[in-house]
Amino acid sequence: MGQSKIWLSSPHMGTEELKNVQEAFATNWVAPAGPFINQFEKNLSDYTKAKHTAVVQSGTAAIHLALRLLDVAKDDVVLCQSFTFIGSSNPIVYQQAQPVFIDSESETWNMCPEALEMAIEHFLKLDKKPKAIIVVHLYGMPAKMKEIIAISKRYDIPIIEDAAEALGSTIDGYSCSSFGTFGILSFNGNKIITTSGGGALQSNDEPTIAKARFLATQAKDNAPHYQHSTIGYNYRMSNIAAAIGVGQLEVLDQRVQARRANHAFYEDLFKEVEGVSFLKEPNGFFSNRWLTCVVFDQDKNHKLNPDKFRLHLEQDNIESRPLWKPMHLQPIYKNELYFGGQVAEQLFEKGLCLPSGSNLTKQEKDRIQSSIFSFLDQ
Ligand SMILES: *Cc1c(COP(=O)(O)O)cnc(C)c1O
Repeated sequence: MGQSKIWLSSPHMGTEELKNVQEAFATNWVAPAGPFINQFEKNLSDYTKAKHTAVVQSGTAAIHLALRLLDVAKDDVVLCQSFTFIGSSNPIVYQQAQPVFIDSESETWNMCPEALEMAIEHFLKLDKKPKAIIVVHLYGMPAKMKEIIAISKRYDIPIIEDAAEALGSTIDGYSCSSFGTFGILSFNGNKIITTSGGGALQSNDEPTIAKARFLATQAKDNAPHYQHSTIGYNYRMSNIAAAIGVGQLEVLDQRVQARRANHAFYEDLFKEVEGVSFLKEPNGFFSNRWLTCVVFDQDKNHKLNPDKFRLHLEQDNIESRPLWKPMHLQPIYKNELYFGGQVAEQLFEKGLCLPSGSNLTKQEKDRIQSSIFSFLDQ
């Protein structure tokens, strides 16, 4: 073998990130405070048009803060998309609230509005109005926000928009993370841009974001001594991470273009192959194509066994992964309520994510192509 590993999605630095970090060192802003934090927050708001932003240590922390700010507490019901990464739902449990999982629809793979409404009706009959809806834009594809916002308004339940995978994605030109009461972003190492680890909470309401900063700073009261009247967290982003983020945001649009080009590359590669399908962009939807996913139909083409395909690529030192395992199938969540059918389950069974980094080289794409062709030809 001897060939270097091709990753699913690896960090891709531009030219400004290291300069910014050096500037942070030179000015000794090596702390969870400093000018790059303010800059990064402002630039994120400018980019997504969500008016206010607090950057924090992770996307998971941002969701946790959103739940706290919505006063989600013990035994409250929170409705969450099942087809997602566990960072979406764990903060519900941090608050000792009850996660209830909702299936996806097949057009965007995100929260199914009908299943969402069924779940809300179920809990209203029990006189237990859900406290929040966590909708996810998985793999960068926006969810059906028009329908979900209509439901949110009709029942007066706030939306937390998990845009961890969807920075750069839009519906009718409006950015993901700007639709909900809260939007959250992640800058983990595998995301479309990274700060090595980090996240952001966004909202149009300034006092709410000010309160998020307060909670993220151990809820330290405004006093000369250390005084605390509520429980907070140490969730602030460091100025070093923000320095990286400021540089990364400058190249975000290029990263989106490169990821979309990867998607086009795979569509082209599989175009003659029976039984392979891709997630299409509905009218007005623009996906950053964070990861390219394929869905294999073995009834149409017996060769398309996702496990065998993945192991074949692995032998050529190429990483691929099954799609997210739905939360209602996770051992830790198996006793939680679930509303919907089998859309997410089927996607988990039949789908795979392919190498999608914005830094994939021509040679790497050639290697991927020949590995896939050799699998299909055997
Ligand atoms: C990455 C991710 C998160 C969590 O973000 P972290 O920064 O890793 O905590 C949440 N939701 C989704 C859908 C993600 O992909």
